[in-house]
Amino acid sequence: MYIYRDISGLQKHLDKLRIEGGTIGFVPTMGALHEGHMALVTQMNDACDHSVVSIFVNPTQFNDPGDLTRYPKPIEDDIKKLYDNHCDIVFIPSVDEVYPNGAEPDPQLGFDGLDERMEGQFRPGHFGGVAQVMHRLLTIVNPQRLFMGQKDFQQSAIVKHMISHYHLPVKFVTCPTVRESDGLAMSSRNRMLDPKLRDKTALIFQALRQAKEDIDKKSVADIRERAMKTLTVPDFRPEYFEIADGITLLPVKDPAAHEFIVACVAVWAGDVRLIDNMIIRG
Ligand code: AMP
Repeated sequence: MYIYRDISGLQKHLDKLRIEGGTIGFVPTMGALHEGHMALVTQMNDACDHSVVSIFVNPTQFNDPGDLTRYPKPIEDDIKKLYDNHCDIVFIPSVDEVYPNGAEPDPQLGFDGLDERMEGQFRPGHFGGVAQVMHRLLTIVNPQRLFMGQKDFQQSAIVKHMISHYHLPVKFVTCPTVRESDGLAMSSRNRMLDPKLRDKTALIFQALRQAKEDIDKKSVADIRERAMKTLTVPDFRPEYFEIADGITLLPVKDPAAHEFIVACVAVWAGDVRLIDNMIIRG
């Protein structure tokens, strides 16, 4: 496994691979890797000849500076996991390497309303930073295939939009969410959870599953109300529970009028913010 911290070293290696031939796959991450990330690496290895993983905690997508400082960075452990999972190339750039000319997101890049609700509403500026870093990383790595998790449903929609806006020649592949045995979606933030709250986090999956069961039986208002009630327990604070169209991400009023529906949720468990989603139709 090769590790690069500089763009020029990485690109020289990738140029050589391109001359030799074969598909280059890419999994961008912020590190603190878990089995969800590893599932992406496995899917990439199955589909591509060469695999690239980046580890970069992107400052421009953190709307809360405290969150950025606290974000876990177990780099040695991450490198070992990638080695064990047969990753070919790891890219671990510094902030200056990624943003040599400063780090302001492109204010011109619109998202056709995809960023207005849910994460966009509660994390202002977050998706501008996501699109910025993804554009930069895709320009640097120039992979044929990009693998991202359904776990961050709205993020995937934003990245797909950005790819089509800039006509980037990359195929987007969505990977299913990997969960703990009780349903909690794996996340780098789970390791920051207060162990006393860990049991209750399974409520998030339960609320999503309930919404899926109820979609043809109850009104959207009732489904949301029930979910918010399920998630309102001591030390928990649901931020939103939204039933959205899977393409536009606009709120669904009449489920019968939509072929693709997703339930998305964000919950504070103590001082850790967790997000999850479930496709409930389509
Ligand atoms: P992150 O390191 O949190 O930026 O995530 C890097 C990539 O891993 C993103 O495409 C995420 O959607 C994906 N990912 C994170 N958690 C999971 C999970 N539990 N299952 C599948 N993919 C995930």
